[in-house]
Amino acid sequence: MPSSLSLKSKRVRIAAVTAALAAGAGLYTAGAASADRAVPRTDKEIPNLTQVQDKIKAFYGDTVDASGQHYASADSNYAKQVADIEKKAKAHLEKVVKNQVKGKKGAKPAIVVDLDDTTLLTYNYELQQGFHFTPESQDAYLKSTDMAAVFGMPQLVNWAQSKGIEVFYVTGRGEHQREWSARNLKNVGYKPVADTAHFFLKNKQTPPAYLACGAKCTTVEYKSGTRKYIESKGFDIVANFGDQYSDLQGGYADRTYKMPNPMYYLP
Ligand SMILES: [Mg+2]
Repeated sequence: MPSSLSLKSKRVRIAAVTAALAAGAGLYTAGAASADRAVPRTDKEIPNLTQVQDKIKAFYGDTVDASGQHYASADSNYAKQVADIEKKAKAHLEKVVKNQVKGKKGAKPAIVVDLDDTTLLTYNYELQQGFHFTPESQDAYLKSTDMAAVFGMPQLVNWAQSKGIEVFYVTGRGEHQREWSARNLKNVGYKPVADTAHFFLKNKQTPPAYLACGAKCTTVEYKSGTRKYIESKGFDIVANFGDQYSDLQGGYADRTYKMPNPMYYLP
């Protein structure tokens, strides 16, 4: 593991997780909630990294434009898997709207959506970086570039809002990335405004008082604590969308929707 891949980066990169997913057969389910850290006995227990990356590209239906930018295809298996999840989520939200599913008494229904690989697709950034995330390269990218929307998510989110469901964006991105992120959401078609009351980013310098763990929150503590705070404001979170299990654990959501992401693992 390269030394630059510090534990503090919060990103356990590609190899461990894709290994767990690809090794599959019997040992792991596709929903394995944590990276496998067992030491392989032979190399045969480790998927070949080049081949894993090729599989990821095939899954996203990799297309490259003249300037070398990589995009996922709307007819890819990734897009199909996403569409299937969105269909299930919409059926649930339709019931909420029709009041067939009772929320908390007097609370307004709300959904929570994550950013990276839930509403915005990091695929091109990841390819540019060779799947090697760094805070510096992420800042440079977000500042200058709009990530594409995850297929179908603007439509789902905008529809929910049109039906009276409040939309909250909750991301592990840093507070200093607020403006770039809000711009991106707007530019790719998300109508619910990412204002300070609806857009939560990690603030390590000045953590909000409602997070008892302060600047030391784990992702689960930060995200579930933020959902608890949202619900304390009179909302019932009827659905929570995230691409990481850490986006979804910790309660304060009636349903959770796990978006596909074979590119990285965040504890
Ligand atoms: Mg994410």
